[in-house]
Parts: sequence; C-alpha cells; structure tokens
Amino acid sequence: LRDISKSAPEGGRAGWEDVGGLTDIRNAIKEMIELPSKFPNIFAQAPLRLRSNVLLYGPPGCGKTHIIGAAAAACALRFISVKGPELLNKYIGASEQAVRDIFSKAAAAAPCILFFDEFDSIAPKRGHDNTGVTDRVVNQFLTELDGVEVLTGVFVFAATSRPDLLDAALLRPGRLDRLLFCDFPSKHERFDILTVLSRKVHLTIISSGSYHWPVTLTWKPLPTVTEGFSGADLQALLSDAQLAATVQESDKPGKMPVITRSLLNSVASKARPSVSE
Ligand code: ATP
Repeated sequence: LRDISKSAPEGGRAGWEDVGGLTDIRNAIKEMIELPSKFPNIFAQAPLRLRSNVLLYGPPGCGKTHIIGAAAAACALRFISVKGPELLNKYIGASEQAVRDIFSKAAAAAPCILFFDEFDSIAPKRGHDNTGVTDRVVNQFLTELDGVEVLTGVFVFAATSRPDLLDAALLRPGRLDRLLFCDFPSKHERFDILTVLSRKVHLTIISSGSYHWPVTLTWKPLPTVTEGFSGADLQALLSDAQLAATVQESDKPGKMPVITRSLLNSVASKARPSVSE
C-alpha cells in the first residue's frame, strides 16, 4: 500500500490558487471539509451527518483529480490517492483485501482525504464481470462506506468520466451521495485556468517588445479561440508554446526563449480540443 498512496498531492504544493474556475465545486468541497473542523461541538452533539463522500464526474481533463489534490494541500489534510486499477488483483480475495487495507489506512490517518481516481474501473455495475473480482470489490466498497464509525474524519472522494458505468448502489444516500459535475470550462474559466497555468511556464511571455506577465493572457482571443478545450488541453497548449519557443531560440545560445503573442497565436490556431461534445 505504501507504493500506491501519497502523503501529499502530486508536486506537493498545489493549493486553491492552482485551480482555475470550478468555483462551485471548490466552495462545496471547502464547506464540506471546513465546517466540521470550524464547529466541532455542533457536529459532535447534533445528529447531523454531513455528506462527506463525493463523486466528481465530468469529461476527461476537466480538473477532477487536480482539484482534490489542491483541496488536500489547501486544507492541510493527509492525502491518500489510489488509481482504480491499482487495486485490482487476479488472486482471489486480494482486491477486496486491498480495499479493506486502504480504508483502514485512511481511518488511521484521519483527518484525511481518501481519493479513488478512475473509479469506474473498480466499481462497475455488478453482474457483468465473469471473474467476479469487481463484483466483490463493489461489495467491499459498500461495506466500507456504510461503516460510519470507522470513517469519521475520512473524506472519501471518487472521480470518473463515466458515471453511467458505476454500480448504482454506491450512489445511494450515505455512500457516495454528493455528486459534483466538473464541466468543460466556460470562456471566463478558461481565462482563469490559463492565468493559473501560465505561472508554471518558466519562460518569459512578451508581447510587442514589452513584458506582459501574466498580462499576455488578458490577450482577449486566447480564451475565445480555445472554445471546447478542457483544462488539460489548455495545459497542453501552453506546453506546446513553451516547446515551440525553445526550438525557435535554439540557434541563439544564451538567449532566453520567449513565448510571443504571435507564437501563442500560431500554436493555438493548430490546437484542437481533445474531447468532442
Ligand atoms: P481524467 O478524467 O482523464 O482523469 P481529470 O478531470 O481528472 O481527467 P485532471 O487530471 O485533473 O483531469 O487535469 C489534467 C491537468 O489539466 C491537470 O494536471 C492540470 O494541470 C490541468 N487542469 C485541468 N483543470 C484545471 C483547472 N481547473 N485549473 C488548473 N489546471 C487544470
């Protein structure tokens, strides 16, 4: 289990400031995690059970994994992240045991976030797997999610781009009962994401001879020409621009590669969204 869990999100430092857009989801997660720690007495006394088990769903590359890593860092919670297929094992009983182990590890690490990525691969509808492995894994998940006592202080999140494949029993009240939809970013959100991502581009972005950092991204056409792009597509676009700038300047040793407005324009005009509507 040590190999598949992490004590901090990838990169270790992502926080809310690294997330562009997704405001409603961010607020929902914040509320869910922060309220119990702000008002512990109320939660201890009232028979109030917050929905702290969440399914994030939406198209690939729209920030489901990213926002959970950011939440863990921002709320200073331990973070146990498991990619679905890592739990599957062909030996009888081993997959269920892996699920049990990961939940008991989370209980020991509470308060923490327990995150299952690519959840559809381990929790598909029962009755369709000849080997019976995923059926048993789903049953084990149901048992663990119903174990309210054990899960105190464990915020369970799962993410999928195929919610239609999941076993419906997992989504019943008390289990993964809070559904948050990560949609494609709007134009305004794309601007936000580009601004956030551009902080990680370690090259100067200039426009018309003067420095624009990160002002270049107020360059109006960019969020517009990237209609239909996911956050991952925007990330790829900036990486392509970074690469193109480096190649362009490679014959001028000692000169700092720059991403100019026209280069950004040319890269953007060739880029296409990776997911169709
Ligand atoms: P999948 O369903 O394929 O697992 P996903 O929805 O989990 O996709 P992420 O892995 O979170 O997508 O996003 C891929 C990358 O895109 C992130 O590592 C991040 O760099 C960038 N990204 C996506 N959305 C955002 C966002 N809202 N703000 C900042 N960066 C983002």
